[in-house]
Amino acid sequence: MTIRVGIAGAGISGLTLAGILSRRLPHVHVTVLERAPAARDQGYGLDLDANGQEALARAGVYHKYWDCSQPYSDHMAFFRIGSHGPEPAGVMFRPALLRWLFPATFAARPETNRGALRDILLDEMATRANTGVVFDTAVRDARLHVDGGCELFGDGGKSVGVFDLIIDAMGLHSTLRHHRVVDASGGKAFGGTVHIHGVINSPEAACGAPLLARLRKYGSVAGYGRGYLIFLQRFGAGSNDGRTCCFYQLNHLDSAESLLDEIGVSPPSSRASGIMTDERLDKVKRWVLHDMGEVFDESWRDAIRSLDRVTVGAPSSHTLLCVYLGSISAQSRLNDRRCAASSHTARQSSARPTTWRFRSFASATHCSTAGWAAAGSSRCRMPTSWRPCSRRRARSTTRAGPT
Ligand SMILES: Cc1cc2nc3c(=O)[nH]c(=O)nc-3n(C[C@H](O)[C@H](O)[C@H](O)COP(=O)(O)OP(=O)(O)OC[C@H]3O[C@@H](n4cnc5c(N)ncnc54)[C@H](O)[C@@H]3O)c2cc1C
Repeated sequence: MTIRVGIAGAGISGLTLAGILSRRLPHVHVTVLERAPAARDQGYGLDLDANGQEALARAGVYHKYWDCSQPYSDHMAFFRIGSHGPEPAGVMFRPALLRWLFPATFAARPETNRGALRDILLDEMATRANTGVVFDTAVRDARLHVDGGCELFGDGGKSVGVFDLIIDAMGLHSTLRHHRVVDASGGKAFGGTVHIHGVINSPEAACGAPLLARLRKYGSVAGYGRGYLIFLQRFGAGSNDGRTCCFYQLNHLDSAESLLDEIGVSPPSSRASGIMTDERLDKVKRWVLHDMGEVFDESWRDAIRSLDRVTVGAPSSHTLLCVYLGSISAQSRLNDRRCAASSHTARQSSARPTTWRFRSFASATHCSTAGWAAAGSSRCRMPTSWRPCSRRRARSTTRAGPT
């Protein structure tokens, strides 16, 4: 008997799970339902911890993982924003010895191109007869079916399938979450910061030597100080793809709309229309360059001038994660009270405390402080194949791992 599995959401989680189930359980038929079209823009990168990498191994695609990941992009160099020199104040990386001794904690976590990883997962699924993805199909609700199983409904209450098992992989905007969690606040919590998030398609072509020197040496570079944070990270897949994303983080605003208003850009009506490559891009760049004032050294300004596209967003999270995010947000607000100088002009002139901001950033990105080392330390090599997280897991993944 075939077991029908319906997965709502073709993000990295939904596709990876579809890969694992279809690979391990031939008597299962997996259908992934995705509201977006197949050609949707996938944004930038993501980094996967050891568990995420193991999931890819179980889905049978780990041997392609390094094709879409940037070597050394988990080497993060931190510069003072006003420093003109090539040497960072500190570098965070996972030393080879620690990775070898404690792979579960110190597994290499390169930046992986989200779009390329998705394509790899989709290609792998296409080789299996017992799984498929249906795009342009939103899931709006679920109900028990009279003949057993569970029925999923799409737009206009139209049935999109009956399944024996349904899995909600719709991420933050899940429409099925209310069946599992009762959450009066609507389920989403503001993370405490607003980001201007952009891409430089080819830093090699667009940027000057000082910024390139930093980017060539370290996969990720951050500038911090006086209450600012800017972050650049290579996420392009393959040696010819130098795409680099850039975050400019603002802590003194409560929503993306208030920033868009300040910049003079109307709020976008959709994800696609929020990707700015037109005259709005120039407006955003001008705003950021003005916001940077005289505080930033030229290489950071160069990064902003080189941006090929931007989006403005306020990362939010399930309220279930609020215990975690709440501390970040509380820190942020505490600082805003401490720094009454949160106005635009004051941001540039005051030497605001920066330690809390750095802590927020570190916890928000799951950084491990154990990887700190002085600038100029030798690089560690990236593993060429996936290493299991523990000996016990190694035994189980010998059977399940990449073939
Ligand atoms: C700036 C930023 C940086 C991040 N960096 C990292 C990182 O480095 N590493 C990391 O692990 N995480 C990172 N995250 C978090 C990361 O985005 C999520 O962990 C990840 O996307 C979760 O994947 P997912 O597949 O569960 O959900 P999603 O990526 O959100 O995918 C959900 C899918 O479901 C679809 N969907 C939604 N609603 C419906 C519906 N009604 N019907 C059908 N389909 C629907 C969506 O279109 C989407 O394709 C970052 C987040 C942000 C904002």
